[in-house]
Amino acid sequence: MSVTTEAKRIAAEFEYSDVAVNEGVKEFIAQMNEGLQKNATTMSQIPTYVTAVPNGTEKGLYMAVDLGGTNFRVCSIELHGDTTFSLVQSKVAIPKELMVAKTAKELFAFLAKQIELFLKEHHEDHFEASVRHRTTVSTPGGYTDDKAFRMGFTFSFPVHQVGINKGTLIRWTKGFDIEDAVGQDVCELLQREIDTLKLPVKVAALVNDTVGTLMARSYTSPGKTSTLLGAIFGTGTNGAYVEQLNKITKPMEGDFDKTTGLMVVNTEWGSFDNTMKVLPTTKYDQILDRDSINPGIQMFEKRVSGMFLGEILRTVLVEMLNENACSLFSDKDSSQNDYHSTTQILPNSPLHKQWAVDSSILSVAEADNSSGLKILRQFIEKDLGVAAASLEDAQAVKDISHAIAKRAARLSGVALAGIVLQTGRLDPGAGDNPGPKSAAAIAEDIKAGNIGEAAAATAKKLADTTGISGNEEDIVDIGVDGSLVEFYPGFEDYMRESLRATEGIGATGERRIRIGIAKDGSGVGAALIALVAAKME
Ligand code: ADP
Repeated sequence: MSVTTEAKRIAAEFEYSDVAVNEGVKEFIAQMNEGLQKNATTMSQIPTYVTAVPNGTEKGLYMAVDLGGTNFRVCSIELHGDTTFSLVQSKVAIPKELMVAKTAKELFAFLAKQIELFLKEHHEDHFEASVRHRTTVSTPGGYTDDKAFRMGFTFSFPVHQVGINKGTLIRWTKGFDIEDAVGQDVCELLQREIDTLKLPVKVAALVNDTVGTLMARSYTSPGKTSTLLGAIFGTGTNGAYVEQLNKITKPMEGDFDKTTGLMVVNTEWGSFDNTMKVLPTTKYDQILDRDSINPGIQMFEKRVSGMFLGEILRTVLVEMLNENACSLFSDKDSSQNDYHSTTQILPNSPLHKQWAVDSSILSVAEADNSSGLKILRQFIEKDLGVAAASLEDAQAVKDISHAIAKRAARLSGVALAGIVLQTGRLDPGAGDNPGPKSAAAIAEDIKAGNIGEAAAATAKKLADTTGISGNEEDIVDIGVDGSLVEFYPGFEDYMRESLRATEGIGATGERRIRIGIAKDGSGVGAALIALVAAKME
């Protein structure tokens, strides 16, 4: 079989039909609700204790710190109240020995010291003012509480969150290992060291990066509409959205403000359908899962996120080579009229190594539309370790990459559609989004003399043709972050295909959904959570 035919046959295995999209959305909603009712095996639906989202008018000076993997970032954020903000930050590498320190105190004392250095460098005024206030001590840190910076703490390790600024460490990951921290409240560990240094800082919120994305987008998005969903499509994938409090029926520990009737929920949708009821699967997905460290877990993520798409591609190519059914990468003369050359898989080729192929090659393959696929062929040499690949080989890589990424984006659209339908945000009169008025409602308005017939006719025509009444309130806003959605050409378009295909959304609903990049969830997003938390103190 020719390489081209074989590639097209495999690409077809990744097709994900509109019918499958609808089955996926239905099951997504079912698993969301299961997670709201009990500790589910698939989507965890974790309550975050964040009970409000910003609309861009918030003001004030807040702090945020981010302990990710290798670095500790400290920043202060001035919210201007007009959807804009200014941010000052410092970043320092965590010394290796502190990642495996004997006691948590050593690590957290180092973090508090970085906060002190940051304040001295960037907020000397604020710092001094609060130091002067120390004569009227009222908090453990020795500053007056109202002068203290409220700070959001993004802590990217597994925690059991029991309050907006309370969460116990479940286990360390990413090379950290400090035994006595496990089971302790990480906010308290940090606050204790901040107080030892007598800094005017209060750890107001423990922040999950996906919730940060939602908050950052909600503040910065145009208009005063608040955002429904923050979604990440990077190394991993996850989403956090605004849920009606009364839909969360499983027990919640800890105290929180119930007056808003809302709660931001961290879906942990990477584990959607771990039981494989509706997720599409190919032989290559099965091989990837079997050879992963966690078979049967994160099944949605394994078909969607950046960490896995390169590996799916590698698995397909390796299978094509193993099966010998076609002649991939074995051209004797791959010159294509430049020079004579034999295609060669280099000895250290990433094709031979699990996880060695980065997903960014999928973007390169999609973007290269030149007739000779020259750029892609260069990347095949650089990223796949195959010298002088033929045009036919490159076209095969392009077709397969396209199929893998398109399925990932259409699956991502299933998650978006599930949340839009679950929250009823497109329904007339829902939350921020009353939706276009029905013909009957418009007729009522005319009868009551609220609007003239000509204006009503225009409004009806607009609503019928676009589904948008022209009001900002009709928009359902979604914030996205991550290299995959940002850099893969057309990722959003394929997500939108799924939205349009979904019963209950359709082309009319899809047009009302605005998707925008949300940057810096762990900076401005964390600061905004601190602001929400401070309002509820
Ligand atoms: P993180 O999610 O770790 O914060 P990113 O959002 O940058 O960071 O995502 C990194 C992931 O995105 C990696 O798995 C990488 O392979 C993938 N990636 C990076 N660039 C691209 C690209 N241009 N196209 C597709 N995937 C990419």
